[in-house]
Amino acid sequence: MRSIQPNADSRRASRWTLVLTGVVLALFTTGIGPRPDGEAWALAYDLVLYNAVYLGAGVTCVLAARRNRAERLAWACLALALALSVAGNLAWTLLLGDLAEPPYPSVADACWIAYFLPLYVALVGLIRSRVGRFHASMWLDGGIGALGATAVAIALLLEPALRLTEGSPAAVVTNLAYPVADVVLLALLVAVSAILGVRRDPALLLLGGGIVANLAGDVVYLDLATTGNYVEGGPLDLSWLVGVLLMGVAAHRSDRATPAERDAESQVGWRVLAVPMVCNLASLAVLGLGWGDSMSPWAAWCAIGCVLVGVARTTFTFREVRALNEVRLEARTDELTGLPNRRALLEAARVVVAEATTARPAALLLLDLDGFKEVNDSLGHGAGDELLCQVGPRLAPALRPGDLLARLGGDEFAVLLPATDLETAADRAGVVEDLLRRPFPVGGIRLHVGVSIGVSTAPIPADDVQELLRCADVAMYAAKTERSGVQVYVPDPGSGSVDRLRTMEELRTALTEGELDVHLQPQVAMDDGRVVGCEALVRWNHPTRGLLSPAVVLPAAEQAGLLRPLTDAVLERSLDAVAQWWEEHRVPISVNLAAANVADLDLPAKVAAALDRRGLPPAALTLELVEDTLMSDPERGRTVLGQLRRLGVRTSIDDYGTGYSSLAYLRHLPADELKLDRSLTADVDTDERAAAIVRHTAALAHDLGLSLVAEGVEDLATGRRLADLGCDVAQGYAIARPMPLAAFLRWLAGERSEQVQPAV
Ligand code: C2E
Ligand code: CA
Ligand code: CA
Repeated sequence: MRSIQPNADSRRASRWTLVLTGVVLALFTTGIGPRPDGEAWALAYDLVLYNAVYLGAGVTCVLAARRNRAERLAWACLALALALSVAGNLAWTLLLGDLAEPPYPSVADACWIAYFLPLYVALVGLIRSRVGRFHASMWLDGGIGALGATAVAIALLLEPALRLTEGSPAAVVTNLAYPVADVVLLALLVAVSAILGVRRDPALLLLGGGIVANLAGDVVYLDLATTGNYVEGGPLDLSWLVGVLLMGVAAHRSDRATPAERDAESQVGWRVLAVPMVCNLASLAVLGLGWGDSMSPWAAWCAIGCVLVGVARTTFTFREVRALNEVRLEARTDELTGLPNRRALLEAARVVVAEATTARPAALLLLDLDGFKEVNDSLGHGAGDELLCQVGPRLAPALRPGDLLARLGGDEFAVLLPATDLETAADRAGVVEDLLRRPFPVGGIRLHVGVSIGVSTAPIPADDVQELLRCADVAMYAAKTERSGVQVYVPDPGSGSVDRLRTMEELRTALTEGELDVHLQPQVAMDDGRVVGCEALVRWNHPTRGLLSPAVVLPAAEQAGLLRPLTDAVLERSLDAVAQWWEEHRVPISVNLAAANVADLDLPAKVAAALDRRGLPPAALTLELVEDTLMSDPERGRTVLGQLRRLGVRTSIDDYGTGYSSLAYLRHLPADELKLDRSLTADVDTDERAAAIVRHTAALAHDLGLSLVAEGVEDLATGRRLADLGCDVAQGYAIARPMPLAAFLRWLAGERSEQVQPAV
């Protein structure tokens, strides 16, 4: 691929520079110990070889800055820092070193101290490129890291420097400036690690190693210099040179993963807590060991500060967890009646249906009150509400432990009956009907309402929750039109099974004939409207039935056992598509995975090969899955997902808010992105509770380092509200409908030049 070529050249140049630098460093080491005598040799070692290591590392930084747009500032600053060092070294060797009484501070000191400033900027730049946005807990973690490191560093490092108080005020200040700059650097480095958590990030680890080597050199130097034992060209010089070489290697490795991929590593759990925890413990140790002795009050205050921020961090996390649990509960309760709501029912039904067998079926009763509209119209909404509130208590005697009564909305209720066959379910429906026929006392009068109940069972005829609801709904509708009270679902012999069989057969051919296609729906950033991704949605160009939607394709594929080949086909199509625009627009594509794919141990290798064939980086692909797909075999699913993420492919949790969403679970999901389901996002503009749920979910998602996509954004007002609530990305008809590749390419091009898309 053309766009990849210049990078390959640059990497090659960078690799050779490093090899040369390594050779130079090896040559320099020959000068440690007895050197050949003579001015020329001294110059060769201290002027040429010593500085050549700095220059080599600087060149790799410059190359990295040119290759790596997101981190340009950071690597450029590192290059500048190394250049300042060289300037200081040259000034010392050429102008000052030979003077009988070199001035102190000198121009060399100015360069060496100035070296720290771009280094700070580089560290800040690197963290900015790795963290999408900062959240309170990150700041707190950073604070803990900085304070803890400062406490330890002051206790160990600054104490000796404080004793160097002889000489002119400028000399004293310079004496102090080195260790202070080192302490700030260490604090910054530890703060960065505390914010990012423990992760496999070669560039950062190497850079950290380089800085630590330099710091160690400074500490030893300080000690030797205080006692007057430092000699130039001794083994100590190696600590600086090795540090500098490590920085060069870090720059070389910098583009092994793009920032987005690195985010994938922003794991939760101990990885996030490890560094802050060590800092807190170290602070306690500083306080404990130094107490009563002549400890610097600065160290003590930093240690106390570190512990206090640690307490704040714990409180913060605790509050967040509590808020989330409340939200979870609220999200599953109907506001008016206090009964479980539709979401709660769907959740429970999913479990129950999964466990149902033909020998032990599960049943669903779908209830719709008759004449409720009249109550509302004639007596007002207050009376209607009062009536609805009585349904729960009224039906309580009809429920066994394990049954679930939920209000689905309006005057619709449902009763989920685990381990109940059709006949028993019909009997239970009769009991429910009788209970509801008794009059309701509302506002001093006795109201008579009837009820129509549809009954269906799983796994036959319905093998999933949606189907169970649909069948019960069909039956309920029949009960209503026939005024029969209770009706059980009877499959229509004309439509069902034959049709399905044929569809399955045809799908097999469609897969080999390439009739499957994907339509693409863009995703845009909420803040500036730039395109940040697109989702591939499967479509079937059926020779006679026209364009078929996933609602037809997926059930057929599942029943025919064709989900894996289907995903393979979609993946191939999607990567072909993304390869068409990747050079021009770095817009990754999201592909949906089914449960069967998540359990497929070959998937990571297949994905890697498919990317490779097109010369696409893993960052070009995101894989979406709904939480439930992980439920059947969580161990295996996690292995597969883990491998995919290590590859650098992003993962996204789809339809969030409809499944088993729980905090505990979310923390352990290997994911980079959360997609809020349309059922949660659609009402945020009108329903304050929905808004609260989204807000809390956003806070949590960000805290876990996940980016939040709002799905089904149908109008701009909703989009704006979702942005306010903390969603990062929008997808929905308000931005664009799913479209064929050609249309999407036009859309992408137009979007860039004409800004046709308003930023939501
Ligand atoms: P999904 O992953 O939640 O995809 C989003 C669905 O919402 C798409 O329906 C899309 O057309 C629709 N949508 C997008 N914006 C809006 C909006 O503003 N309002 C409304 N009302 N709808 C919107 P589609 O294409 O029918 O796909 C349905 C589902 O089928 C998908 O839901 C996904 O779960 C599944 N699916 C689609 N393609 C594939 C595939 O290749 N493999 C697998 N395993 N599943 C797929
Ligand atoms: Ca999806
Ligand atoms: Ca979705």
